[in-house]
Amino acid sequence: MVEETVEFRSVRGFHDILPEEIAYWQRLESFSRRILEAHGFKELRLPVLEMASLFKRGIGEETDIVSKEMYLFSDPKGRELCLRPEATSQIVRAYIQNRMDLKEPISKLYLIGPMFRHERPQKGRYRQFHQIDVELIGDRGPISDAEILILLWRILQGLGMGDLVLTINSLGCEVCRPHFKSHLKEFLRDKREGLCPDCQRRSEKNPLRVFDCKEAQCKASLEGAPRIDESWCGDCTDHLRAILDLLSEAGIPYILDSRLMRGLDYYTRTAFEVKTKALGAQDAVAGGGRYDRLISTLGGPDRPSIGFAIGMERAIELLKLNEALRPEGPKVFIASLGFRARLFAFKLMMELRARELKTEMAYGESSLKSQMRQATRYRAEYVLIIGDEELEAGTVTLKEMNSGEQTQVKISDLIRRLIGPKTP
Ligand code: ATP
Ligand code: MG
Repeated sequence: MVEETVEFRSVRGFHDILPEEIAYWQRLESFSRRILEAHGFKELRLPVLEMASLFKRGIGEETDIVSKEMYLFSDPKGRELCLRPEATSQIVRAYIQNRMDLKEPISKLYLIGPMFRHERPQKGRYRQFHQIDVELIGDRGPISDAEILILLWRILQGLGMGDLVLTINSLGCEVCRPHFKSHLKEFLRDKREGLCPDCQRRSEKNPLRVFDCKEAQCKASLEGAPRIDESWCGDCTDHLRAILDLLSEAGIPYILDSRLMRGLDYYTRTAFEVKTKALGAQDAVAGGGRYDRLISTLGGPDRPSIGFAIGMERAIELLKLNEALRPEGPKVFIASLGFRARLFAFKLMMELRARELKTEMAYGESSLKSQMRQATRYRAEYVLIIGDEELEAGTVTLKEMNSGEQTQVKISDLIRRLIGPKTP
């Protein structure tokens, strides 16, 4: 029987992240971690698999994520599980389950990892993508709102992302939002014909979601719609005002947009998004908001909270526009000629590596010329040249690749020369 050859490929919307791109990921992660830790946030790592009911309850049945984007399946026991589509509900689940509320009055947490949504794959939109998710649990604001917004801005600006626009709105609270909701429902009743099928349904159940629809016909139908800022109660107005004052004092530019609604049901009051003009249609780099009722909705204590998520793939696209990062080359490349020299080079390489000096040499035998070419391709800072003669004399040739300068160095001096004087 002739065996059929199959070509294995990754699943549509799922991507390999290869070494040539990794410098961007590492830079985004290490910089973000540094800033987050300096602001008192602690990392947690959670499973990618959760009970599906968590998100149905947390995010809301009428949202795009829950109604059509979740990777749902049953486990062998018939339980309905899903790959996490977002982190906030999950962090809240972990917060409640692990009784974090008893350990500290305020929990400042972050999570870096993959999220999964069954959306139509396109530039900037994948089915597995990554987020840096940040949550400040246990404060009603407005100080914590400002802290979260300034922190987000610092991370994105600090990475040199340039042209970003922070848009803010308040979605109101349980006192004032119901009024707006009923006004909007009434307004949308006459527009039903013009709405997409999803929004026709939403306009009854969850009319605020219509603002978040990307269909042009729905956007057009909202022309002349009631504005949420006209419904804010005094407390919501004061809360937002205080945040905006703090942002201004911090020198952070923002745009107030009463149409910004965000896709998740759990938001209360502050909602925000950071957009860029540099990425085309998928222009949101980060988004977030306040969720004062989510923790109690999911069975936990009453803990008002606020958070954001940065989309890492989109952040990296922005990083790429600003700087060309490459994986770091080795500090030293050892070129050797002859069998004895090669064994010596191997031992020396392992010794340098043990001292955490990134060192490479050629595998297999090749000419000096080809080894020098390899060193250039690796972008090595130094090349050491070792032949049998050098071994006899107890020296090596050290070439600094940038300047081309070449010196003879005693083998016994070499490590000191490369590492510098030992610090006690
Ligand atoms: P969008 O409006 O682009 O669909 P969203 O409101 O669904 O975004 P959030 O749930 O707020 O996004 O997630 C925060 C960030 O995660 C987004 O601002 C974006 O940068 C990123 N993101 C969301 N969905 C995807 C995806 N499918 N692929 C890549 N990045 C994504
Ligand atoms: Mg989305």
